[in-house]
Amino acid sequence: AAPADLSGLTATPTGAFSPEAARKDVPILHRTVNGHPLVWLDNGATTQKPRQVIEAVSAYYSAANSNIHRGAHTMAREATELYEAGRNAVAQFLGAPSPDTIMFVRGTTEAINLVAQSWGRAHLGPGDDILVPVLEHHSDIVPWQLIAEETRARVVPVPLTPDGEIDQAAYADLLSARTQMVVVSQASNVLGTVPPVREMTALAHRYGAKVLVDGAQAVAHMPVDVQELGADFYAFSGHKLFAPTGIGALYATPEAMAEMRPWQGGGNMIESVSFERTTFAAMPHMMEAGTGHISGVVGLLAAIDWLRGFDQNAVAAYEQQLMTYAMQAMATVPDVEVIGSAAERIAVLTFTMAGHDPASIADWLDRDGIAVRAGHHCAQPALAHYGLESAARASFALYNTSDEVDQLVASLRRLGQSGQ
Ligand code: PLP
Repeated sequence: AAPADLSGLTATPTGAFSPEAARKDVPILHRTVNGHPLVWLDNGATTQKPRQVIEAVSAYYSAANSNIHRGAHTMAREATELYEAGRNAVAQFLGAPSPDTIMFVRGTTEAINLVAQSWGRAHLGPGDDILVPVLEHHSDIVPWQLIAEETRARVVPVPLTPDGEIDQAAYADLLSARTQMVVVSQASNVLGTVPPVREMTALAHRYGAKVLVDGAQAVAHMPVDVQELGADFYAFSGHKLFAPTGIGALYATPEAMAEMRPWQGGGNMIESVSFERTTFAAMPHMMEAGTGHISGVVGLLAAIDWLRGFDQNAVAAYEQQLMTYAMQAMATVPDVEVIGSAAERIAVLTFTMAGHDPASIADWLDRDGIAVRAGHHCAQPALAHYGLESAARASFALYNTSDEVDQLVASLRRLGQSGQ
C-alpha cells in the first residue's frame, strides 16, 4: 500500500498543553537505550516518574520517615498528616465525596481481590452471578473465579461484538435478579476502548447489582468522577499514574463499605482486641491491616499534584490527537494490523505484523530504543476473541510526542524491509 499522506496531520498541541512541559520533568525519558534516545511506549504497563515524585519520596525518607497513627511523637504526627493528605488528594482526584471512602491498597489487583474477599465472601452465594466482559484484564476475572468457587456463585462472561466492543444487548440480557456484581474497566488495556460505563452502571443498579469499575488504564488519561460514573467501587494503581509501584487506591460508596467485612486482620484495623471479643476500626481503616506503604502514598500525592498542574481536559485532547495521529501513521506500515476498530480509544494501540511474531517485533523495536510490550497483556480471553495468543502493544502517556510515533513507524518499516 502507498504510504498515506501525513503532512496535513500533526499531533503538535494546539491547546493549553504541550508534552514538552511534562517531558522536562521526567528524568528517565532523557536516557538512551541501546544507543538511542528512549522512546517509552509501554505506559499501559507502567508510567515513568516525574522528579517531583522521586524527590517527594526521597525527602520523606530523608526528613520525615515514621510509622503512622500509633506514635505520640512529632514525626508520627507528620507522617500521619502526609498519609491522610494523600487520602484526601485521591478522594478529590476521583471526585469522591469524602476521604473516608478511600482505602489504600497495593494496586488495582489487590483492590479487586479485596472487594472479592471482603464484600464477595459476605454477599455471594449459590446461584449468584458476577458479570465480567470478555475484554477484561485477568485481575478482573481471576479474583472472582476464586471467590465464586468458594461461594458457588458463577462468573458469567459478557460477550464482545465483532468490533471488540462490549455487547450491550447481551449485557442487558444477562443482567437479572441473580446478578450481584458487574466488573468493567473504564478503559481497556488491550484495545483502549472506553465502554459506556455510566449507562452500564445505571442498568446494573436497576437489578440491585453492585458495579466495580477498574480504572487502571483510565486514570492517567481522562478526568474521573466516580459519583458521576455511579461506581460502587473504583480501583486504580499508582504506578500507572506516574507514582511509585506498590501503592493504589480503592474507592467504595459508604453503602458498599457498610457491606464489607474485614479481609485481613492485624494492627491498625482494630478498635480493641481481646481473646473474647475483637472490635474493628471504622472504615476505611478496617481495610488497612498492618503498616501501609507510607512513602508510596507520599509519591502518589506528589504524582496527583503534578498531574493536576496540567489542564486535564487539554491533556485528554492532546492524547486524543496523538492517538489519531498514531492510528493513521500505523495504517501506512505494510503488514501491520491494529486490533480493534473502536472509534473511541485512549492511549493504547495493540497490533500485529504479518510474518513477525510479537516478541520479535518488540525485540527489534528495543534495538532502536523503543519500548513496547509483547504478549497476552493479561487479557487472554480478549485476544482469543481476535484469534490471537499474543500481540504487540504501544501505549502512550501525556509525555509522548508525534516524533516518537514517527520513530515507531520508521522502525517497523525497517523491520518489514529487513527480510527478518
Ligand atoms: N486492570 C487493568 C485494566 C490493567 O491494565 C492492569 C494492569 O495492567 C491491572 C488491572 C492490574 O494492575 P496492577 O498490576 O497494577 O495491579
